[in-house]
Amino acid sequence: MNLNFATLTDLQKALRNRDVSATELTQHYLTRIDALDPALNSFISIQAEAALGAARRADERLARGDARPLTGIPIAQKDIFCLQGQRTTAGSKMLGNFIAPYTATCSEKLADAGAITLGKTNMDEFAMGSSNENSYFGAVHNPWDPKLIPGGSSGGSAAAVAAGLCAASTGTDTGGSIRQPAAMCGLTGLKPTYGRISRWGMIAFASSLDQAGPMTRTAQDAAILLEHMAGHDPRDSTSLNEPVPNFSEDIGKNIKGLRIGVCREFFTEGLDPAVERSIREALAVYESLGATLVDISLPHTPYSVSAYYVIAPAECSANLARLDGIRYGHRCLDPENLQDLYQRSRGEGFGEEVKKRILVGTFALSAGYFDAFYNRAQKIRRLIKEDFVKAFEQVDVIAGPTAPTPAFPLGEKASNPVEMYLQDIFTISASLAGVPAMSIPVEFANGLPVGLQLIGNYLQEGSLLQAAHQFQQETHWHTLTPPEAL
Ligand code: GLN
Repeated sequence: MNLNFATLTDLQKALRNRDVSATELTQHYLTRIDALDPALNSFISIQAEAALGAARRADERLARGDARPLTGIPIAQKDIFCLQGQRTTAGSKMLGNFIAPYTATCSEKLADAGAITLGKTNMDEFAMGSSNENSYFGAVHNPWDPKLIPGGSSGGSAAAVAAGLCAASTGTDTGGSIRQPAAMCGLTGLKPTYGRISRWGMIAFASSLDQAGPMTRTAQDAAILLEHMAGHDPRDSTSLNEPVPNFSEDIGKNIKGLRIGVCREFFTEGLDPAVERSIREALAVYESLGATLVDISLPHTPYSVSAYYVIAPAECSANLARLDGIRYGHRCLDPENLQDLYQRSRGEGFGEEVKKRILVGTFALSAGYFDAFYNRAQKIRRLIKEDFVKAFEQVDVIAGPTAPTPAFPLGEKASNPVEMYLQDIFTISASLAGVPAMSIPVEFANGLPVGLQLIGNYLQEGSLLQAAHQFQQETHWHTLTPPEAL
């Protein structure tokens, strides 16, 4: 068995049959990280000793025949999840030395299920970005072609799985940061319903939008990981008190009669024709599986990017206020007085994109402009949500592209914020509405991965996973691996 690109299901079996031990598997990935990650930069920190310690305990458990669902499976976690006693940076100089005093709920659940964390992955600073070029720890390279971006902000998590440096990873998605990098790197990525996974211990960017989720090779793997990340958490007041279905068991249901909405507004001018071809091809596969395509409209989609880039900065300006060099974060050397301490600590600690968003957000929330910007953006958000509510009276799932283009060269859009922000044009509306959405690999365009986005109704992750799984039973795109990583 080729361990590099094995799925969670393969690994579960191999570990239980003792074909491989947890220690061998962990060592295998650590060796690959050593060899391949210098060229990719997908990790910010590696916890080799802790991982090998956990692997030894996993092997004891396996030997006792008392394995949990993820016992012995090495994963990577985005460096936005607090892990007690470990450095958690959110990709920022501001938190360059921050040692988390507790563990994020969803990371704790994964550990309880037996998963081993190999390390923390690189990301755009405070999850702001679509290319992973905004990290204080340097850009991440796409394993399919190191000259290209891996997508962002969960770019390190995507590159690490795509290059076979871990079995799966965790990401977070505020406006597309799980789905878009999954699309760029040829992975399956799922952003659950807002509130499905606790945000406790996940460093906040825009609290009304942030959601954690799995980044995996297959829909089956995403189902397994989601089961062990989701669930009510009294420590997060926005956490949903809903039972977590057995996603991985229900995934095999056939999708005959599934009504798939094809949203007109997702096939706009900016969509690369090669991407559009791949998406139409995928829709044809769904028809051959017995699904019905229904033409639908989500009329307020064109306003989603504008609304998001008021709401997300507004929330981040409030969330990042605590990073002032006193309560949290980098403190400048030899401050002259309190004002100087605040100014220089924040000035030195934050990168350009973060500063820009704090400025925009503070402005949009200021007394004179609150109604003109923030309140209007909230009204648009409501309209976008209503579009989805109406659409889901007619269809079960909505399909379209995840991103307008495949991965682009590093540096290409770095100085053009508008073009960069348009990367999220198809992903943001599901975030604003709080509905679940995922990206799965479809036919490649010019040798590069393309993602199909599937959006579901509230709490209907199960339907998305079934639709994704059925597609993956019929196609091989999710099994392709980057040449450099072999
Ligand atoms: N690219 C978007 C942004 O920069 C979304 C990021 C995210 O989902 N965290 O805000």
